[in-house]
Amino acid sequence: MKKIAILGSTGSIGTQTLEVVRENGDIEVCGLAAGSNISLLEDQIREFHPRIAAVWSEEKAEELKERISDTDTKVAAGMDGLLQVSTLADMEILVTAIVGMIGIRPTIEAIRAGKNIALANKETLVTAGHLIMPLAKENRVSILPVDSEHSAIFQSLQGNEKKALHKILLTASGGPFRGKKEEDLLEIRVEDALKHPNWAMGQKITIDSSTMVNKGLEVIEAKWLFGVDVDQVQVVVQPQSIIHSMVEYVDGAVMAQLGTPDMKLPIQYALYYPERRNLPGERLDFWNLRKLEFEKPDMDTFYGLWLAYEAGRKGGTLPTVFNAANELAVRLFLDREIKYLEIVEIIEDCMQAHHNIENPSLDQILETEAATYDRIHSRR
Ligand code: NDP
Repeated sequence: MKKIAILGSTGSIGTQTLEVVRENGDIEVCGLAAGSNISLLEDQIREFHPRIAAVWSEEKAEELKERISDTDTKVAAGMDGLLQVSTLADMEILVTAIVGMIGIRPTIEAIRAGKNIALANKETLVTAGHLIMPLAKENRVSILPVDSEHSAIFQSLQGNEKKALHKILLTASGGPFRGKKEEDLLEIRVEDALKHPNWAMGQKITIDSSTMVNKGLEVIEAKWLFGVDVDQVQVVVQPQSIIHSMVEYVDGAVMAQLGTPDMKLPIQYALYYPERRNLPGERLDFWNLRKLEFEKPDMDTFYGLWLAYEAGRKGGTLPTVFNAANELAVRLFLDREIKYLEIVEIIEDCMQAHHNIENPSLDQILETEAATYDRIHSRR
């Protein structure tokens, strides 16, 4: 029986991971962690019987402790709780489905403890990829991509030599505002930006998809996962989200992974790799599909994608600034404190003001995150 733990079990990826666990019936869930949704966490504890459950909020952790006092599950809180779940004895795969840079420390500690990582939390790799990838190698652990695009790239690389890879073709749906120009985006409301055409996901990534900042984060994520330069990653808009990504080899051959938009496929692939298992659900029907479309991304309107390439090329602490500025700006937009177009304006302002530090330590990354937040708050 495989033994896993999940950070962010109450979110979109977390709940779909538990669906995969439920459908297969041969995975033991050793630990769960969530932010504050203790009623869903309680249901999960009663169904999957983890040894430990962590809740970010101390207050909610106390409440959960009382609610599940009739079970054998131990409750922990805060960063200490996340670290306990991430390093549980004999757990083999940690699913990092938490949102944001908060995932860095638990991921690093899990790798140090020899756990394989099924990685959804892209913000961690974007900001600390230069620490995480060598650490994984040193500890002989695998970083298995959960993001559908990166899983598609990973699947398209199977059976081929890495040195034969010429470039990565990272597909993008283009989001709800594909084809729009800046003047069309002036009055975008939260509810408009939360309507993704093809995928149902958590709020932050849905906003990131609408600005194409998500694609930018994925470009940097691909750089670390597959050891390429960001300029070897070409974004291709594929509005139907059927081709999840492709790779081009030195001889011009292109390999792609296609499927219906269902995150359970990449989740299950990461959990059972290299085995493929049956997955119930809708299958592609090429007779009905008829055509697939492709476009070049509009990096003038969706300038956040261009800024991501800049951050990825320069490296150092600049990707942290890009990511942290976006995390806070998206929160402010969701709280209706800033306008839609200000998200990318804030990222650009923070990047321009930043003095880059090469090869930063974890402390320098976290200091950069704090300094980025301070700048945004001080200018409001
Ligand atoms: P959601 O917002 O749906 O879920 C986030 C999860 O993280 C929730 O369980 C939340 O708990 C938990 N969480 C948030 N903050 C903390 C904290 N401080 N401590 C403990 N737990 C916390 O996000 P998604 O599932 O959409 O995304 C998760 C990650 O996966 C992101 O990095 C995203 O970019 C990536 N990803 C998501 C995809 C998707 O289809 N959704 C696709 C590819 C990548 P609570 O709800 O209790 O507050």
